[in-house]
Amino acid sequence: MFLHATASLYAAALLIATGLTYVAWREIQSEEPRRIRFKGAQALADSLPMPAEGSPDMRFRLLSPWETAAAPVALRFDPPLGALIYNAQPFWEMNVRRGGHHTGDDLNGIGGMNTDLGDPVLAVADGLVVYAGDPSPGWGNIVILAHRRPNGELVQSMYAHLDRIDVSPGELVGRGRRVGRVGTAHGSYPAHLHFEIRTGDGVDIGAGYGGDPLNRVDPAKALFEWRGAAADDFTPSPLGVALREGN
Ligand SMILES: [Zn+2]
Repeated sequence: MFLHATASLYAAALLIATGLTYVAWREIQSEEPRRIRFKGAQALADSLPMPAEGSPDMRFRLLSPWETAAAPVALRFDPPLGALIYNAQPFWEMNVRRGGHHTGDDLNGIGGMNTDLGDPVLAVADGLVVYAGDPSPGWGNIVILAHRRPNGELVQSMYAHLDRIDVSPGELVGRGRRVGRVGTAHGSYPAHLHFEIRTGDGVDIGAGYGGDPLNRVDPAKALFEWRGAAADDFTPSPLGVALREGN
């Protein structure tokens, strides 16, 4: 009887071990990518449009000491697009479908839809290119410039969904320099410029909708307050002239 019970225990243990080995083997053979098992972490990962692999992720980093020193003083700010523009989705408007508040302004040509596709997107102020890349399908091509305001504060202007990028990281650009062209984020939207103004000394691509503005400020209000010139004054930037920039 005792022997029989021991044999049954061994048999059960063997069965369990075989089962576990099989499960482990299936896991190893599985083509499915490993999933994060924690529900909260997975929900967070799903909400962030970030690639799991690829080139180094430069979407969150602090500006280097060189960048901090090289960001030019921006005495005045101009609009990022030419005349005849409307703001289709202003800063911090709630977008129920996207589940959050809009983190920038969506600037469109008054012709609507893709009539502004390929229009030049201009640096709003003298700046340093601190990001130029294509971080995710939802964003498409992005350029971020760092500027130092006359009061010493570091701020950034961000130009998203671009059809084309015309500047490189580390490049100094004068106000009015073409940094790219209005695009659709690879066909994700009708052509428009998603434009943001951010404060602080980090580069954080983040998401286009959120529950907290974090370091984002109202772009139209910022450009108006930081204008530094008469509304109809569009003389070129001395820095741009010195850099011999042409669009
Ligand atoms: Zn937008």
